[in-house]
Amino acid sequence: MTSTWTMVNQKHSNPKPKTSIAILGATGSIGTATLSVLSSLGKPWRLIGASAHSKVVELTEIANRHEPHMVVVTSEQCFSRPNLPPGCQFLCGPEHLQTLAEHPEVDTVVAAVVGSAGLHSALCAARAGKRLALANKEALVVAGNLMKEALLAGSGELIPVDSEHSAIFQAIKTGQPREIRRIILTASGGPFRTWTNRQLSEATITDALAHPTWQMGRKITIDSATMMNKALEIIEAKWLFDLPVDKIQVVIHPQSIIHSMVEFSDGSVIAQLSPPDMRLPIQYALTYPQRIVSPYPKLDWTESLNLELIAVDLDRFPAIQLGWEVCSKAGTCGAVVNAANEAAVELFLAGKLRFLQIVEVCQRILEQHNFDPSPDLPYLMELDRWARNETRKWASLN
Ligand code: NDP
Ligand code: MG
Repeated sequence: MTSTWTMVNQKHSNPKPKTSIAILGATGSIGTATLSVLSSLGKPWRLIGASAHSKVVELTEIANRHEPHMVVVTSEQCFSRPNLPPGCQFLCGPEHLQTLAEHPEVDTVVAAVVGSAGLHSALCAARAGKRLALANKEALVVAGNLMKEALLAGSGELIPVDSEHSAIFQAIKTGQPREIRRIILTASGGPFRTWTNRQLSEATITDALAHPTWQMGRKITIDSATMMNKALEIIEAKWLFDLPVDKIQVVIHPQSIIHSMVEFSDGSVIAQLSPPDMRLPIQYALTYPQRIVSPYPKLDWTESLNLELIAVDLDRFPAIQLGWEVCSKAGTCGAVVNAANEAAVELFLAGKLRFLQIVEVCQRILEQHNFDPSPDLPYLMELDRWARNETRKWASLN
């Protein structure tokens, strides 16, 4: 592995369009946005396979509308074949995410499962040499080094879907890796951007789910409120762009129009701007390296545009510091913080943890864990289970 190799390997100079798509997590926010992109792109892009976890009715509707060759239900509830169109294969069980990710007819896998449940299939897609349109940032947070090895082994390619990383992916092309001074991830600041620590201590589930600029799944919406989402994105950026922690900065940008920036050694800063709409980075990941006319909202340059950039308050949002810490220590830290956070968000949404305790418990579990600088997958999965259990124990005592 060379030190200049990055996951977002951009050497595909004469690529064949990749138009046969599998969506892992098709019933979620990113999955639904991807289906909307496929509808507007039309042929030759087509849905080959899709998965759902619990929303079998929604998956059936998807199958009837998009006529994929196969659908997968990953939860335990799949007792009988739903009312699918003829010729649509029905597979049941989490192991079939791998079947979709490696299917020979599929050339692009949209990894849109939430949480570390999406890791194994993302690894499979990378190892199978697919284009991996990656929304599931947790896969990189948990096992960035293994994802990198899988991509190298399979000669696959990874195109980020996360809007910040898509922005950097686009901006970074304007210079050479050695010319990057730093990247600047923008963060909306979420619903609590202006809240005091005292107000944060009383934040409710409804408050935390009211994101001002993005409509997303519940887990990432809570992550945005704690700013753990930005911590995960710091780690995601480290792996994607092969950058040390001191080259990854964060700035608050409440309008969510500047999606992120790259600063080069001469001081020039290149940014990517567009209205906050995930369909754009998703379309870019599907059609890359082409840019295709899209029907999505555009910025109106005849109107005044107020773009604020505000320094992040590390006292009110300690998750950012935690993100930098995990980023610099690497090894098992990402898996532990990610699992603690997933469990803590579930507990918060169940009314069993207070808002400020989410980041607090992640810090505690990180400190307690048995660090390994180069873990294998079984140890990462063992730690994932351990951290979830420890988080639940901590919550029951506090
Ligand atoms: P959602 O919760 O809306 O959707 C999650 C999807 O994963 C659903 O299809 C769900 O199935 C499925 N799923 C849930 N649990 C499991 C499991 N254990 N095994 C297999 N599949 C499962 O999440 P989002 O779409 O918001 O987020 C998906 C990923 O994309 C996350 O990693 C998030 O961080 C990332 N992301 C999301 C953005 C957004 O705008 N939403 C922006 C950038 C990144 P079902 O619904 O049938 O239960
Ligand atoms: Mg993002």
